[in-house]
Amino acid sequence: MKKIGVLTSGGDAPGMNPAIRAVVRKAIFSGLEVVGIQRGYSGLIRGEFREMNLSSVADIIHRGGTMLRTARSENFRAPEGRVKAAENLKCQGIEGLVVIGGDGSFRGAQVLGREHGIRFIGVPGTIDNDIPCTDYTIGFDTAVNNVVDAVNKIRDTATSHERTYVIEVMGRNSGFIALEAGLAGGAESILIPEIGVNIDDIIEKLERGMQRGKLHSIIIVAEGAGSGIEIGRLIQERTGSDTKVTILGHIQRGGTPTSFDRVIASRMGALAVDLLVKGETAKMVGMISGNLKDFDIDYALSQEKTIDRSVYELAGILAI
Ligand code: ADP
Repeated sequence: MKKIGVLTSGGDAPGMNPAIRAVVRKAIFSGLEVVGIQRGYSGLIRGEFREMNLSSVADIIHRGGTMLRTARSENFRAPEGRVKAAENLKCQGIEGLVVIGGDGSFRGAQVLGREHGIRFIGVPGTIDNDIPCTDYTIGFDTAVNNVVDAVNKIRDTATSHERTYVIEVMGRNSGFIALEAGLAGGAESILIPEIGVNIDDIIEKLERGMQRGKLHSIIIVAEGAGSGIEIGRLIQERTGSDTKVTILGHIQRGGTPTSFDRVIASRMGALAVDLLVKGETAKMVGMISGNLKDFDIDYALSQEKTIDRSVYELAGILAI
């Protein structure tokens, strides 16, 4: 293998830049040429390629987002789009691809590999942490810290005004961000799609808190569990407590990556290059109990990532 490509695809995540840096520098260290593909599969189809050297990735380790840009591509979902993508890769002499993105991006790479024999390794990059075969995805830790930061600030005003705050957080169909940020932020209730929403339980807990003189309550809602606005309205109606809703939105995805995200991004990016050099393909890298591992992509995508129920239960006990 002489030349590889790297792209970021799907939703951006803080830590994608350190992952790109690791792929580029490890590849050059291993004697490979590296091409950066801009805007994910969309740029792959349009031929948006740029040669990468050591200095192309200088001064990006601390920056959120992705210097290669990212995109979603409807054209890539069609066979004709993938024919064009494979032609462009062959034309450029790119023999292997590192795909940094979420499970959608992995599925895209899986089909491209199956149809056109393109070699690839997936690096899990998404704030949602919803990819199986890895305890953590790149960007999750930063997103959780962004949420906890916001919760701390909201808590100050919630206490001053003796209000209930409902905070809606991201996570698509999963509750990983809500659960971790809820435990770290001391939320009274955490609503996640994996458990479901029981409004009676939330009200009962709020009323118990009010009876013992609690000044404020923080309720974290994962976007996949329901609408924060609707839940806030129900709480206000049923408890009569002044209830405010904050939807954190995209501030969760931005900002400098935490050291944890930088470290896993660097390690995972470098491992992806090693795997391509060894002739491996159709795999994803992951971190299990602190150790880096690789998994067959077909196996990984057939698995379901589940939350740790004991963490959910503990958050409930500590917020009693
Ligand atoms: P993420 O990687 O963050 O999960 P998406 O689900 O939007 O983001 O996927 C990113 C891109 O991957 C899509 O825009 C599409 O181009 C491609 N993709 C996703 N699923 C498939 C699929 N089943 N077949 C082909 N391409 C896919």
